[in-house]
Amino acid sequence: MGGGVVGAATTWHLLEAEPSLTVAVIEPDPSHELAASSAASGGIRQLFTRPENVLMSQYTHEIIDRWSTWTAPDGSVEGNDVPDLAWRRQGYLFVAGTSRAEQLRLDYEQHVRLGVDAQWLEPERLRELYEHLHTEDLGAAILSPGDGWLDPHSFLRGMTSRARRLGATMIKGRAVGFETAQRRVTAVRLESGGTVEGESFVNVAGVWGPGLSAQLGLHLPVEPMRRYDHYVETKTDFTGYPFIKDPAGLAVRPESVGLTAALVDFDAPAGFDLSIDPSYFEDVVWPALVERVPATDQLKLVSTWAGLYDQNRLDGNMILDRWSGRLDNYYFATGFSGHGLMHAPAVGRALTELIVTGSFQTLDLTRMGLARIISNSPYRELSIR
Ligand SMILES: Cc1cc2nc3c(=O)[nH]c(=O)nc-3n(C[C@H](O)[C@H](O)[C@H](O)COP(=O)(O)OP(=O)(O)OC[C@H]3O[C@@H](n4cnc5c(N)ncnc54)[C@H](O)[C@@H]3O)c2cc1C
Repeated sequence: MGGGVVGAATTWHLLEAEPSLTVAVIEPDPSHELAASSAASGGIRQLFTRPENVLMSQYTHEIIDRWSTWTAPDGSVEGNDVPDLAWRRQGYLFVAGTSRAEQLRLDYEQHVRLGVDAQWLEPERLRELYEHLHTEDLGAAILSPGDGWLDPHSFLRGMTSRARRLGATMIKGRAVGFETAQRRVTAVRLESGGTVEGESFVNVAGVWGPGLSAQLGLHLPVEPMRRYDHYVETKTDFTGYPFIKDPAGLAVRPESVGLTAALVDFDAPAGFDLSIDPSYFEDVVWPALVERVPATDQLKLVSTWAGLYDQNRLDGNMILDRWSGRLDNYYFATGFSGHGLMHAPAVGRALTELIVTGSFQTLDLTRMGLARIISNSPYRELSIR
């Protein structure tokens, strides 16, 4: 259920691992108009505090590296059929105020241990590298030059077409309920009235997923949270700049003849609300932008778009598991809290391993599972804000 990046990645991993499987993707909107995968900024970074998140991003880098040479089932190189990712390896820069510099140092040491090509930058070096950045209030920064951003539509399209080539069946429809028997889901009910039977059921329906799980009695602390992105044209040229994240939560990167900027409002009321509040940029984002990048005091706001985070209110990390002991063939991955695009390939691989072998094989994601939700023991990701 769900044909966004996570559904697409799960499907092609399943079919690659077990070509004899029949995998059907139930997706109500093949244009993905409201899907988070369509709204994403496309950022791919290894700068996380939790090792699982670092390692999952590293797998996505592997996928990006071999993207254009993926082979078709007959062994031929897919080549030109694979959409251009528009991958820009311009780095990620996490800047921290003096009060968070110590935590940043610990993060940095872990990044190095995990093989991330990360650089520790003191404010003086920051000033030399990025003349347009306000650094007076900063304690330090980490730069990961190998990270960057890509076109999310191409990422989704490429993975979807790979899933199709490997034999996925696409069902245009909306899952609205389930049939169950003897601790198993036996079928998904569709809005159209039909049912889809199967051996295993995977809920990767983004912000809509927790509502479906709730129908089975599985309640997850995941809510839709609106997030804007703003594209602005600037007089100053930021072409070579990295994707910057600052202590206020500002995320900003070069785009065309200006910048894309975002500042998540974690206090926004939860809900399926994609309306745009025109004052938010003026009152909240622009002041924060000028504070960090003073040259943006002159800019033209060209466009604003909104998408929904599936925000895990417990700890800002994904919840990926099988509902063992209750409905043993029901799998889910949700709560990506703004970093599901960059983790989709690893999530697809992990779900595949759970389904095919019964346990994680490549990367142990037990700490991302349901147990911490049930016991109310957050496994917090600190680098989200
Ligand atoms: C503005 C914004 C910027 C972001 N930037 C980044 C970023 O830079 N980097 C990053 O890694 N992540 C980013 N994210 C987060 C990322 O986009 C998501 O975590 C990721 O796309 C989630 O993918 P998904 O497949 O789980 O969900 P979705 O892409 O939302 O896909 C879910 C699919 O399920 C379908 N569906 C809905 N209801 C049903 C149903 N009843 N039955 C079957 N199917 C159903 C939907 O139509 C949809 O296509 C951003 C998110 C937003 C909103």
